[in-house]
Amino acid sequence: MDTALLTRWITGIAETVRANRERLTELDAAIGDADHGVNLDRGFGAAVQALAEEPPVSPGALLRLVGGTLIRRVGGASGPLYGTAFREAGRHLGSLGDSPEVSPAELARALRAGLDGVTRLGSAAEGDKTMVDALAPAVRALESATASPAAARAVAEEREAFEAAASAALAGAEATIPMVARKGRASYLGPRSAGHEDPGAASCALVFAALLSAVN
Ligand code: ADP
Ligand code: MG
Ligand code: MG
Repeated sequence: MDTALLTRWITGIAETVRANRERLTELDAAIGDADHGVNLDRGFGAAVQALAEEPPVSPGALLRLVGGTLIRRVGGASGPLYGTAFREAGRHLGSLGDSPEVSPAELARALRAGLDGVTRLGSAAEGDKTMVDALAPAVRALESATASPAAARAVAEEREAFEAAASAALAGAEATIPMVARKGRASYLGPRSAGHEDPGAASCALVFAALLSAVN
């Protein structure tokens, strides 16, 4: 995959976040402060604009630009967290020399670095009812689907890998419904946070659905 595919990914995220803005905001109204849809809409809209103004020359540079933009433009927990995920993924690719073409296996390793950045910053574990409950299984699914060298190259298997990641993220988001929040604003509610899907996990499922759409 190259900067064209990743640009389609980020543009697709911005579109699906815009289309789901009210739903994300309603989820956040139930257990937070009702701004998650608005926060991400502003952030990914700014990211798309930044990519158009100065098209990055490599996937790594692209992910770093998206990450930095999210960190600067989104107030609230999700901006620094999503921003760190993209920026650390981009830094990982930078440490490999910022090649113009990245395999799905390399993307899996980059997103693992992104997940590590999120857990370093927010110290949430799986089961704490956060975006990590969608992001971690999605990264694992991508890693196992791209584990063999042949799978890393074949385009058909690239789509299968992204399908596996998207459905893992969706299942992870749905699994947050009965959880009691232990991180972020929702944790102030204690047991009353149970019975609602976590907004950040729901948006993370949209992020991986957009990755699948970008290859189709
Ligand atoms: P805020 O809570 O500051 O209003 P948002 O509403 O944009 O920010 O984002 C809330 C989401 O951020 C939560 O649903 C959760 O998924 C995620 N989140 C909050 N705190 C953490 C954390 N410490 N680690 C991981 N994710 C977190
Ligand atoms: Mg909020
Ligand atoms: Mg807020």
